Amino acid sequence: MNDVLKLQEVTLEYPDGVDAAGNPAVLKALDEVTFTAQRGTMTAIVGASGSGKSSLLSVAASLITPTSGTVVVDGTEIQSMSNKQRAALRAEKIGIIFQQPNLLPSLTVVEQLTMVAHMNGLRGAKLKQAKNRAMELLDLVGLEAAANHKAHQLSGGQRQRVNIARALMGTPSLLLADEPTSALDAERSASIVALLARITGEFDLATVMVTHDLEMTDSVDAVVQMADGRATILK
Ligand code: ADP
Ligand code: MG
Repeated sequence: MNDVLKLQEVTLEYPDGVDAAGNPAVLKALDEVTFTAQRGTMTAIVGASGSGKSSLLSVAASLITPTSGTVVVDGTEIQSMSNKQRAALRAEKIGIIFQQPNLLPSLTVVEQLTMVAHMNGLRGAKLKQAKNRAMELLDLVGLEAAANHKAHQLSGGQRQRVNIARALMGTPSLLLADEPTSALDAERSASIVALLARITGEFDLATVMVTHDLEMTDSVDAVVQMADGRATILK
């Protein structure tokens, strides 16, 4: 099955105070958004600030339940799932890369990647396996030599590479990235996008990346433009 992510007429309303008549008002962050993302492809989400890009990713990540419409991840509809099932889905199928890497200052690079394994109580051979995977991923993102460095010893681009490697620890099929290059200069941004493209191919992922950099849209397979919560497929 090629469609890893499928959104159908997804509408998301946030409560927004009261209207002139004193009735609860809502803000429509997503307005009947429909699109699919296929395995082995990279989709860019573009659009002005406030147009609904982060809301779209949060819904795709199963972090927010839409007001209406359906979201399907790897063949499973997520709206009928319990919170526990969603957490399991995220752990198994979805890698999330936020704008700011949010690395813990006291941990080394390899520990940032194995933290979840530790928290899940893995020991012995299982923990060794997680450490081996972490080292493989650090090699993939070009950070093997920095495995024992702390966050403050890394450049902005290196931190974002740790963030990307960490998102791959759970072997996802869907990779979601919210403005992963916003804190970086043009050269570093381009190399992060090239890395995401390589990972997308290598692991056969559906990658969906929010970007405000329209130049990036040349190097992706699909482009969805958001405006006032509505999506237009540009490519
Ligand atoms: P973008 O990522 O494109 O900047 P967002 O998805 O963050 O857009 O926001 C879309 C709209 O929803 C904006 O008008 C924003 O103010 C509003 N919004 C976002 N998050 C919330 C929230 N948690 N509660 C209320 N309104 C929100
Ligand atoms: Mg945003």
